[in-house]
Amino acid sequence: MHEFEFIDWIKTYLGNKGNHDQIPVGIGDDMAVIDFRGGHLLLGSDMTIQGVHFEESQATAEQVGHKALGRCLSDCAAMGGEPLAAIISVAKPVSLSEEWLKGLYYGMGELADRYRCPIVGGDTSGSPERLVIDVALLGRCESNPPILRSGARVGDTLYVTGPLGGSILGKHLSFEPRIPQATLMVRNLPVHAMVDISDGLSSDLNHLCKESGCGAELWVDRLEAVISHDARRLAEKTGNLPLVHALDDGEDFELLAAIGLPPDQLPSLGENIVLYPIGMITSERTVSLVYPDGTRSALTPHGFRHF
Ligand SMILES: [Mg+2]
Repeated sequence: MHEFEFIDWIKTYLGNKGNHDQIPVGIGDDMAVIDFRGGHLLLGSDMTIQGVHFEESQATAEQVGHKALGRCLSDCAAMGGEPLAAIISVAKPVSLSEEWLKGLYYGMGELADRYRCPIVGGDTSGSPERLVIDVALLGRCESNPPILRSGARVGDTLYVTGPLGGSILGKHLSFEPRIPQATLMVRNLPVHAMVDISDGLSSDLNHLCKESGCGAELWVDRLEAVISHDARRLAEKTGNLPLVHALDDGEDFELLAAIGLPPDQLPSLGENIVLYPIGMITSERTVSLVYPDGTRSALTPHGFRHF
């Protein structure tokens, strides 16, 4: 059983445990949605683990803190929500100093400040070997309903908010969660579905299509514009095509959105947001790459899986 099959199992097992009357969206989206006093609360969590999400030798404590909270904030952006508060739990091995641990909180504190997301509690523990950070985030959708993975419609254009691939060379520690961009998008555009690219474009697009009951085509000539500089640098080392890194690498934390407007009708939303059109939603339930000469090939999801 791989990771996503296990998540499906959990979803089925827990689906009828407890009262789900006020839970319109449970397991399987970027955050859960809870109906509360006529509004929508968002709830989610992310674990960041030494040796899995970062190597101590290659990241500062501040960067690790930034990543741990940033991952959760990115999920909140994907729902079109705004963060309300976070709870942070940390299990610390003896090998990491008190100074290092303070640096971790400096990294989280700086991001908490910027995105107005106070850290209001949590737990601290020892860990026999590795550092584990768990971030739980509460958010809300005020002026718009939550944007789900399941809302894509046939004919929607697919857009991403930035270049993709090669994040392992540094972006995975320094990315900015796209909260202001998401807010602008949901207020001004018909955003039907959204997901943040954490596992990799091929994998996250597959999740979006599966939840929406549709397929997609990606335009290779348009994808050229979203191959990051780091994807090209990494491709020189790995021997893969840069496009493969843009499609399959994880942790870019850009948004992938299905929007009911083609590129030539998209209004400008200001200088702080760029939307790159990369493809469209189709009724055929497969995801394919379309080359400039019109030929097609099937795109299989190859993003990061934990088990
Ligand atoms: Mg996500």
